Amino acid sequence: MTSGSSRVVDGLDPDQLEAVLAPRGPVCVLAGAGTGKTRTITRRIAHLVDSGQVNPEQVLAVTFTARAAAEMRERLESLGVSGPGGRVAAQTFHAAALRQLRYFWPMAMGDVRWQLLDHKFALVGRVARELGLDAADRDLLRDLASEIEWAKSSGHGPGGYAEAAAEARRDLPSDPRTVSRVFAAYEEAKVAPNGDRLLDFEDLLVFTTTILQADPSIAEEFRSRYRSFVVDEYQDVTPIQQNLLDAWLGTRDDLTVVGDANQTIYSFTGATPEFLLGFTRRFPDAHLVRLQRDYRSTPQIVSLANDAISRARGRIAGTRLTLVGQRSPGPEPVFSGYDDQVAEVVGVVAEIRRLLRAGVDASEIAVLYRVNAQSEQYEEALSDAGIDYRVRGETGFFERPEIVAAMRRLTSLAQGAPPPMPVVDAVRHALHPIGLTEAEPSGATARGRWQQLLRLVEIVEAIVSAEPTLDFASAVGALRERSTQRHAPVVDGVTLSTMHAAKGLEWDAVFLTGLHEGSVPLGRASTSVEDLEEERRLFYVGITRAREHLHLSWSLARGEGRGATRRRSRFLEALAPTAAADPEPERTDPDPDVLAALRSWRERYAAAEGIMAANVMSSQMVKTIATVLPTSREELLTVRGFGVERADIIGDQILEVVDAHLPGAR
Ligand code: ATP
Ligand code: MG
Repeated sequence: MTSGSSRVVDGLDPDQLEAVLAPRGPVCVLAGAGTGKTRTITRRIAHLVDSGQVNPEQVLAVTFTARAAAEMRERLESLGVSGPGGRVAAQTFHAAALRQLRYFWPMAMGDVRWQLLDHKFALVGRVARELGLDAADRDLLRDLASEIEWAKSSGHGPGGYAEAAAEARRDLPSDPRTVSRVFAAYEEAKVAPNGDRLLDFEDLLVFTTTILQADPSIAEEFRSRYRSFVVDEYQDVTPIQQNLLDAWLGTRDDLTVVGDANQTIYSFTGATPEFLLGFTRRFPDAHLVRLQRDYRSTPQIVSLANDAISRARGRIAGTRLTLVGQRSPGPEPVFSGYDDQVAEVVGVVAEIRRLLRAGVDASEIAVLYRVNAQSEQYEEALSDAGIDYRVRGETGFFERPEIVAAMRRLTSLAQGAPPPMPVVDAVRHALHPIGLTEAEPSGATARGRWQQLLRLVEIVEAIVSAEPTLDFASAVGALRERSTQRHAPVVDGVTLSTMHAAKGLEWDAVFLTGLHEGSVPLGRASTSVEDLEEERRLFYVGITRAREHLHLSWSLARGEGRGATRRRSRFLEALAPTAAADPEPERTDPDPDVLAALRSWRERYAAAEGIMAANVMSSQMVKTIATVLPTSREELLTVRGFGVERADIIGDQILEVVDAHLPGAR
């Protein structure tokens, strides 16, 4: 064993050191969150270079996101083996493949020209139109594009798609045969009559792999160039990325991988931990190192993380390691249940302010949530509180395409005659063509868009309930003002991020928010054990991002004054104390009889008045009323968005319907 220079070996524990100093050949580090996997592989690279086993130019370090690659480059630079001092390549799989393909394509393909297809969307739209599908349905097109992406990443062609999708229980935008047809047509459309090609991101990987496999001289040139391979976050490799890695290696075995199967959170894109878990079967003489010491988090947080993941089920759960906290003790994690979402946001922002006053740096604080649509309320509240923030990996709420489109439409309508209905209804009505259908749509993209638009309506509701005399034009004006008041993105503010985008990162203080059923785990995830377990792992990833302060919160109702229709996340069971502040919601579901009676009353009323049912009242209002079961005008007015005007016109009739069908009245 070669001993390393102090720069390389300082601050490593014996297990990490074993992985760093292991001789050239297959090495697998299987370890939990915060145990120093990323630290270990960057040190290993530095060691291989320092000890003269490889030249820096011969190392290829790959990972999955541009951010993770940049982070790796930074760490390598500080070790002096990347940047000006040396030239280890740290890249994403895609960036590496793109470079290689540019170089090797002319040798393999001669005069055939190719061009990178950045986005599938337009081409999917074209072939969908040619197949007679509704190409104006942008959400359908986007979902079709992600299905094609998933299938290609998993190594399936159009022929095998239907079966594979059924097996993987994909949430399909259309029937599987239609998806297969679009997929096949899309593949054909990328090849021009003269043979020139468009290559999408998956094609980059597949073509590079094929060329390396088919052309021995190219393979030889490549393999003399790169000799040593390192993969971080290996639990997230897709089958086609693995094929490329195999092509890079050929018959060699100089490969170091690190990963944590319990942090597998990208299965829906085709990633799988099978390659990580099968590594020692494939390389029986691999050096296997397990790390258990957690250097990131306080023992309090580590213990919570262990508890959370100990409830996991299934194959991946069998690979669990118990983390042992190495840091000195810190504050206990805080569990906070709030009556409604508004109170949760206020509570989180108050706590952030307290941390800032206590000297915690804003850039050391993160608010994590399950879906992008949840960022907006924090953007708004932080902005109001004058606290800088940045939204990681995503554009801010008012920059999102559907919100830009919605604002454009509202602004233009506000210049015309005032619509003959309450302001909130008019807004809903205006957003209908942009995607705010009455019922929540199926298909991930449409649903995401629908949620964002609903959020916009909620903002209008809040504006109007603060100032009930506002008319449509002034409400839209207030909305526009709100969007322009937003702070420009800053680099050193509080981070707002989805739990997914937080993978691999760490902060002193982490707020895990929206921990109610339907959000964590996400709505439809509870339908299969696999999906539920992936959500649990995501929860674990969230917890393990925190170094010192961890705040876990949920709310029992969506909006202020709405009925308590939510439960806190099942993942919190046995983790969070059952505090008095967290009463079981009185009712969690609408009363079915009242719901049915209200719906049919609404239909009749709408027909009689010749208006749309949604303009009598929204489906959400119907549901809330059937849940809250109001017995007075005052209680009816607590239903979000219902409003005085509506109460004047239809309030009495609704109270009668509710009264006639109340459980006690039957
Ligand atoms: P994740 O699974 O979340 O990606 P990881 O296993 O890659 O985590 P790192 O990010 O490498 O963990 O390390 C977590 C934190 O612990 C970092 O701040 C790192 O600098 C620190 N750390 C790692 N090993 C040690 C050590 N031996 N001594 C002190 N600090 C360490
Ligand atoms: Mg890491």
